[in-house]
Amino acid sequence: MSHIYDRVALIGMGLIASSMFWAMKRGDLAGHVTGFARSEETRETARRIGLCDTVCDTLADAVRDADLIVLAVPVGVMGQIAAEIAPYLKPGATLTDVGSVKGRVIADVSPHVPDGVHFVPGHPLAGTEYSGPESGFPSLFDNRWCLIVPPEGADPQAVDTLSTFWRGLGSDVELMEPDHHDLVLSVTSHCPHLIAYTMVGVADDLGRVTNTEVIKYSAGGFRDFTRIAASDPTMWRDVFLSNKDATLEILGRFTEELFALQRAIRQGDGEFLHDYFTRTRAIRRSIIEAGQDTAAPNFGRSG
Ligand code: NAP
Repeated sequence: MSHIYDRVALIGMGLIASSMFWAMKRGDLAGHVTGFARSEETRETARRIGLCDTVCDTLADAVRDADLIVLAVPVGVMGQIAAEIAPYLKPGATLTDVGSVKGRVIADVSPHVPDGVHFVPGHPLAGTEYSGPESGFPSLFDNRWCLIVPPEGADPQAVDTLSTFWRGLGSDVELMEPDHHDLVLSVTSHCPHLIAYTMVGVADDLGRVTNTEVIKYSAGGFRDFTRIAASDPTMWRDVFLSNKDATLEILGRFTEELFALQRAIRQGDGEFLHDYFTRTRAIRRSIIEAGQDTAAPNFGRSG
């Protein structure tokens, strides 16, 4: 029997939780999986598509007897949900989350974790711009990193078992400190999203002047920005409000670089621009070599 946990509870049934469920089934990693979402609509959809072995109408029913409880809700509500489920958690259980920010989640959730329950936060570096119970698929985590971010004094056995579980879901696992996680993710994910939101906002403003030509002639660069900028607004609002310091630090650096490029363009400094773009091209190459993206033209898209 390959079950890593006998009973798993998924709190929230959106993109990440539903992908975890299908990947758990693919790998036969759990004996029984319960799920809870706040809206009746999501619970009904989950029942219709067979998402989770049991869909529960209350948080208490979902987490009771669970060996692993996964908080897969927006970062801003993790603390409140931890407080609500605390009285029903089984001693010896592991509580984890999949939130995109770690420092704030650890600060919000830790005070509510009962003695004897192991809190081991995590963050799978995998996603799409889609959300909701029907957006998940079993291969979402394949060959993607999952960062496990244990707070000080975390139980090593609980950390080990959760790492094995994520490997079973298809991920490569690494441990990281919370502050470091939030800084790294600010560079690799949070600020790029903010820049995409900004660029699409600019195009939208301009679109009113150019009568939708921006949409009609949208080519590679802009089209890829719009994909990122289609991500869930609640999730991303919470990410920026929760990872304020690192975001402001990286945005400050970004603005300085942008001004340097702006000045080079104004002064006709082609050498500066060429050197800059040569350096950035090498980064793209290393991402492909690290197996984190495809080298196919147009990101492997057919159209
Ligand atoms: P999602 O598809 O939008 O699903 C969110 C789930 O949370 C839904 O089931 C929703 O319930 C529930 N929820 C929302 N607000 C709630 C509230 N106030 N109280 C209780 N439940 C609430 O989101 P997701 O993409 O799976 O993201 C979940 C977590 O994973 C977030 O913390 C995010 O930071 C993290 N994450 C996301 C990605 C990504 O690319 N999407 C990647 C890595 C990590 P209803 O359906 O009933 O509204």
